[in-house]
Amino acid sequence: MGATIIDGKKSAERVRAQVAGHVERLKSVHGITPGLAVVLVGEDPASQVYVRSKGKMTVEVGMKSIEHRLEASTGETDLLALISRLNADPEIHGILVQLPLPDHLDEDLVINAIDPVKDVDGFHILNVGLLGTGQKSMVPCTPLGCLMMLREHHGELSGLNAVVIGRSNIVGKPMAQLLLGDSCTVTIAHSRTRDLPDVVRRADIVVAAVGRPQMVPGDWIKPGATVIDVGINRIDAPEKGDGRTRLVGDVDFASAAAVAGAITPVPGGVGPMTIACLLANTVIACCRANGLAEPEGLTA
Ligand code: NAD
Repeated sequence: MGATIIDGKKSAERVRAQVAGHVERLKSVHGITPGLAVVLVGEDPASQVYVRSKGKMTVEVGMKSIEHRLEASTGETDLLALISRLNADPEIHGILVQLPLPDHLDEDLVINAIDPVKDVDGFHILNVGLLGTGQKSMVPCTPLGCLMMLREHHGELSGLNAVVIGRSNIVGKPMAQLLLGDSCTVTIAHSRTRDLPDVVRRADIVVAAVGRPQMVPGDWIKPGATVIDVGINRIDAPEKGDGRTRLVGDVDFASAAAVAGAITPVPGGVGPMTIACLLANTVIACCRANGLAEPEGLTA
């Protein structure tokens, strides 16, 4: 039996439509336009693509998009001064500093300089602590998108065994916290985990966030399990012609889809939901900043 394909593009469209509805109300009823500032330091090509696409989608849902592109040689003092100005700007409700930063900049220092209320990436230490203790926080976009897709396709998650492969601060750890928040029994697996295939075989829900192309084969997957593939890996695709490449996830899609109950594809799964959740977080940040009721269904 083939798995249901979880269509991240459709889920993201729904989230964006909901966000656009709230933005329209904020504008027409309260005279407020949510604003998102994205700061990009340097010329990393992948980051440039992400920033462009974030800016385009921000405008499409009716919000204000401000981009600050700084030279790779920008010093810490100048970057912190910009963040300080954005923190104080009442027209900016969300601030995102595109990672990775050039090596000479201290990422923790920079992220923790963002006003936690405007920290739409959810990486500020205060938001990490709030999420970890089950309190209202800004939730990191990628794991939030995964949770929304799981709730939509799996329904009640309570009591299920969930295995998150990967323990990064931006995906693995917050994903585990969110699943715990929905009363899953959560295992975080990582590069030192023993008997990883056996650990994964016990999972009703598998979230793979490793960064290794097609590492998880179908015979690691429990029949009927839901598989969320966060990985984005570019591999050679000689079948498409010389020098051509394609994107694959951390899961071997073909063999996993033959046993799973539901699975996200790459591309078209988690990726589109990440940006949709960034827009959702910006609307939520705007509501919080203005003491307005938060839209329902757009956060954890
Ligand atoms: P990371 O490199 O920070 O973390 C990878 C984790 O995988 C580490 O915790 C490591 O312990 C674990 N790991 C490495 N080798 C392993 C192995 N052999 N077995 C088990 N675990 C192993 O990566 P990240 O930032 O968490 O990203 C993970 C993947 O998700 C990457 O492919 C990245 O491009 C992708 N990603 C996608 C989105 C999206 O929007 N779809 C967002 C963020 C990251």
